[in-house]
Amino acid sequence: MNSVAQRTLATTSDRSNNGAAPVAVIDLDRFCDGCGYNLRTLPVYLDDRTGIPVVRCTECGRYQAASDGATALRPWLNRLTALFLWAWVLTVFSGFVLIVLGEGALAYATLDELTVRGGATTQIINNTVIRTWQRMGPLEVDTAYRDYWLFISGIYGSSFLLAFTGGMYLMIVVPHWRRVAYTGVVLAVPLLVGLVVAFSWNEQAPHLFGWGLTYVAAHAGVQVLGGVLGVVLGRPAARMLVRLVLPASIRPRLAYLWLADNKPFPKA
Ligand SMILES: [Zn+2]
Repeated sequence: MNSVAQRTLATTSDRSNNGAAPVAVIDLDRFCDGCGYNLRTLPVYLDDRTGIPVVRCTECGRYQAASDGATALRPWLNRLTALFLWAWVLTVFSGFVLIVLGEGALAYATLDELTVRGGATTQIINNTVIRTWQRMGPLEVDTAYRDYWLFISGIYGSSFLLAFTGGMYLMIVVPHWRRVAYTGVVLAVPLLVGLVVAFSWNEQAPHLFGWGLTYVAAHAGVQVLGGVLGVVLGRPAARMLVRLVLPASIRPRLAYLWLADNKPFPKA
């Protein structure tokens, strides 16, 4: 293409928004045909010759139709999209359920690990605890438990990490909630989980209820802390991870991580 043709093309395309007011903005994720930049929030103009709504990529300058077109394939794509959306909804929900169950399991595992059936004769041979039962008695606190502090820091650490992951998970997979909703969930889940674990512990070992409640409450506290930090740091951490791991050309697909916090999406 010679320079005259290029200049003619430039003036032709420049006309479409010359002085004209935008008629709309792109309000969903659409990607530039030229460079892949996310066109979300960019203004839409009516092309003054054809009347077709167009959007200009601010990254590479390319003009393109603002609508994504309709073909015979479209209804099928819509059906497939609905199917994938349902799969996505179920995946998101299952992930959340797994995290909630995990929080309960960690609290329960602590009580289970630190107690032992009563009525045992305990011997320690070569640093190994050996117990023999004539007859099983009620649960007792395991006073011969080895590496107590190692176990305790490991299990509370896991509790914290799981709750942090849970908070971050919400911030990433359901970015449209309001902040108060995230906070509500990360406060309510550990408390409800703690209640359920405390009740079932009371069924199993009512005589150790007070002892167990200390651990259950500590787990709930650690999980609230982890969850709140996950909500506060979740999206900044995700943005950092995206910039660290993904090349600039593919990052626009995850621009919502910036837009959800009203931050401008960083240009490549
Ligand atoms: Zn572009």
